[in-house]
Amino acid sequence: MEERDLKISIAHLYPELLNLYGDIGNIITLKKRCEWRGIEVEFTEIHSGDDIKEHDIYFIGGGQDKQQEEVAEELFTHKWFFHGQRDKGAVFLGICGGYQLFGHYYQPHDKEKLKGISLLDAYTVAGDTRFIGNVTAKTDFLTPDTLVGFENHSGLTYLQGDTQPLATVTTGNGNNGEDKTEGARYKNVFGTYLHGSFLPKNPQFTDYLIELALEKRYGERIELKLLDDTIEMATHNSLINKPY
Ligand code: GLN
Repeated sequence: MEERDLKISIAHLYPELLNLYGDIGNIITLKKRCEWRGIEVEFTEIHSGDDIKEHDIYFIGGGQDKQQEEVAEELFTHKWFFHGQRDKGAVFLGICGGYQLFGHYYQPHDKEKLKGISLLDAYTVAGDTRFIGNVTAKTDFLTPDTLVGFENHSGLTYLQGDTQPLATVTTGNGNNGEDKTEGARYKNVFGTYLHGSFLPKNPQFTDYLIELALEKRYGERIELKLLDDTIEMATHNSLINKPY
């Protein structure tokens, strides 16, 4: 299929609540890298109380504990819908606080545990240290294999079962500062602690997500034409193993 005949639907979940450190840049990057190829984008913002229909990509950003509390309750009402979407191959990307809610729960300090939607077999507990700084991590499925970004979280996330790490930390802390894992993946559900925002600095991962979403929609792998990523990769490379 020609890229100009393609369409992709993207939903941004609760942007008014979870959109820390410019996480909106991830939506802008997904939209732009489709539009630059002539792929039509149907974009929807999902706010508290909205119904949610089928989309190819669901994105949720990060936020402080208070905003997470507000979103957790609402997100949980759609739990089984999201499981159905995951099992149909829909792509999910959660950043930090949004990522934590993709697991079974997030236990903040001195507050009630927040129920997650268990798209990932993972859980998060608040730690005593706030991890703040640059992160570089290596994947086993991307070229180039590095992912770069900025972390700011006290939550410690632990992966279980078939949920795999997104990448292995070479600089920074990642999921918990102990097991060298960063982020998570199960089916086409992805979570990461990398803000920055994340996707503009990691164009190869953005295109990977778009190709997964097109495969879910059209039932076949569609290789995207390459874009001139000189500026994106200059930024990416300048951040590799950049110390805190
Ligand atoms: N409140 C969560 C934590 O501190 C998530 C923070 C974030 O989204 N940056 O771990």
